[in-house]
Amino acid sequence: MERKRTKKIMVGNVPVGGDSPITVQSMINTTTKDIKSTVEQIKRLEEAGCDIIRGAITDFDDAKAIEEIKKSTNIPFIADIQFDYKLAIAAVESGADCLRINPGNIGSEVKVREVIDCCKERNVPIRIGVNSGSIKKEYLEKYNGVNENSMVYSALEHIRLLENLNYENIKISLKASSVPLTIKSYEKMSQMADYPLHLGVTEAGPIWRGTIKSSVGMGTLLAMGIGDTIRVSLTGDPVEEVRVGREILRSLNLLEEGVEIISCPTCGRTKIGLIDLVEEAEKRLAGIKKPLKIAIMGCPVNGPGEAKEADIGIAGGLGEGLIFKKGVIVKKVKEENLIDELIKEIESL
Ligand code: SF4
Repeated sequence: MERKRTKKIMVGNVPVGGDSPITVQSMINTTTKDIKSTVEQIKRLEEAGCDIIRGAITDFDDAKAIEEIKKSTNIPFIADIQFDYKLAIAAVESGADCLRINPGNIGSEVKVREVIDCCKERNVPIRIGVNSGSIKKEYLEKYNGVNENSMVYSALEHIRLLENLNYENIKISLKASSVPLTIKSYEKMSQMADYPLHLGVTEAGPIWRGTIKSSVGMGTLLAMGIGDTIRVSLTGDPVEEVRVGREILRSLNLLEEGVEIISCPTCGRTKIGLIDLVEEAEKRLAGIKKPLKIAIMGCPVNGPGEAKEADIGIAGGLGEGLIFKKGVIVKKVKEENLIDELIKEIESL
């Protein structure tokens, strides 16, 4: 798959677009001005591998809190603003690394210009985001309802407002809760503009359903080479969004960091508690940054052979298991010690 080349922008110290690695974003669900809870949540997200975080800015206390939050966290902070241009300016002055605001919602050109001047001064990009639920009536009428045309042309209107003020430090999102509409909209936009694209399927739902919708929607686009940064939207702990986002990238070989677990589905030959072993391994290996493929297979007959591409792995037997490296068995271990031994082997690599 060849990646569609877009312009590169900087969100704080994280590049987005061009040939930069595809980044994973999330959004805090704390009240931004509750600095303690917000910092705690951002730290958990950083640990899970979140590259960029966004927070809702609903008043001046939220905007002011950005400065303090940034002192205790390490990833760029995007201020999500709905309409109030003064809040946008306050957020940028407080240290926001990017704004998520639609210039068409700000009001007069004078107000848009004030926001742009403030962003230009600090090299702060703006994300224009069109969601299928908030397309203006005139676009719905002109393009016969909610579809890729009304989505894309709505976004282009906001983009033109910025371009007319010589501002091109932009990224774009076009989120719909419908996966086919999300795909069609991003595909169309990628043919019409070369600004970096922030992918997302909006209101994807609870963790199980939302993971599937996001994986299908964003996975399809990424496999087509479209997308520069992603956010999985789930009704749940934002850490789950980051885990899912990273796994989507990993599954397409777009993230070469951390452990990929290959495990068999189990069958009548499985004589070991494989499901529990895999769960334990997943938890205990989560913090490893080194790119590794770990296989956890149910039987010694097919396990090592089927998982030859893994760096290291386990093949279960009756109350015991074999540890293998690149498909070759190196050790026999009791079931209860398998994960400890696996970790020792990983550490010695
Ligand atoms: S690796 Fe062995 S236990 Fe696992 S599914 Fe294949 S045959 Fe069954």
